[in-house]
Amino acid sequence: MIVIMQAEATTREKSAVIARAEDFGFKVHLSDGKERTIIGIIGDDRVINREQIERMPGVERVVPILKPFKLASREFKGEDTVFPLGDHTIGGKEVLVMAGPCSVESRTQIIETAIACKEAGAHVLRGGAFKPRTSPYAFQGMGEEGLKYLAEAREITGMPIVTEVMEPALVPLVCEYADILQVGARNMQNYALLHAVGESQYPVLLKRGMSSLIEEWLMCAEYILSHGNTRVMLCERGIRTFETYTRNTFDINAIPVAKHLSHLPVVADPSHATGKWEYVAGAAKAAVAAGADGLILEVHPRPEEAMSDGAQSLKPEKFAKLVVEMRAIAQAVGRDIMP
Ligand code: PEP
Ligand code: MN
Repeated sequence: MIVIMQAEATTREKSAVIARAEDFGFKVHLSDGKERTIIGIIGDDRVINREQIERMPGVERVVPILKPFKLASREFKGEDTVFPLGDHTIGGKEVLVMAGPCSVESRTQIIETAIACKEAGAHVLRGGAFKPRTSPYAFQGMGEEGLKYLAEAREITGMPIVTEVMEPALVPLVCEYADILQVGARNMQNYALLHAVGESQYPVLLKRGMSSLIEEWLMCAEYILSHGNTRVMLCERGIRTFETYTRNTFDINAIPVAKHLSHLPVVADPSHATGKWEYVAGAAKAAVAAGADGLILEVHPRPEEAMSDGAQSLKPEKFAKLVVEMRAIAQAVGRDIMP
């Protein structure tokens, strides 16, 4: 439930409500807004009496959160979550562009791609060092060496890095180099990993599982938020359907639905959603029009040589053109893409 305090409630009155909830063994999340304080009391609602809290001094009203996801819900937090990533922000007026190769393949490849992406207008550099591959015989990523090259590319371009972490034990290592932790689609419901990235307090890009319901995706965000880590981005990357002309089916609906249900920023990944570079620009522009707060796009200087996901990777020139087109769409819907 959420406790809305009166505008004139004193610090002592707020503390009394928090103490009462904690006595019952609840986790308390405080949101000290400009106008009033909202206290989120999260846990099993059956053991706390709503009227008891409602009668406490300074309390205006108590509202139960009906959705199974609590901290992630609009009911808990009405205004959009906005936070900085490098020199930019996500969740506000600005639409953030993340770009880079699927995998880090070599020092020169990531640096060359990072410079090209930056010049084309990207704000965040992507690149996988630990790769979840369908086949155990496929390229598994460069591991820590790849993270080092990503960090070098950040030094050169100033762009923060988003990279995937696949297991809890590797969270500390990835945090040494990365700025944003990506939880991949295949790991969306890896609860041990969700706890670990939650505890890290690093910003997290949470991909939607390829066969997951929007509600399951939001419940996974809830795991991360429950550790007090408020910097979570939801990423729609396409889902499995009967269609085979594309790698996945881009669930464009998920963007307005997630924005409606949650205050968290929503990022779209048209590269994995379509699987073919020819369709990436169309899907990316649709995502901006649908209200995405960010895009994550795969870019490779020579897609035919890519060690993973070459078919869906844009060449830097195509990516640069797409950024210009997306900017026009962003402006048409009251947003902008910063140069
Ligand atoms: C990726 O970003 O390269 C990736 C593996 O994505 P997903 O987890 O969405 O398949
Ligand atoms: Mn990929």
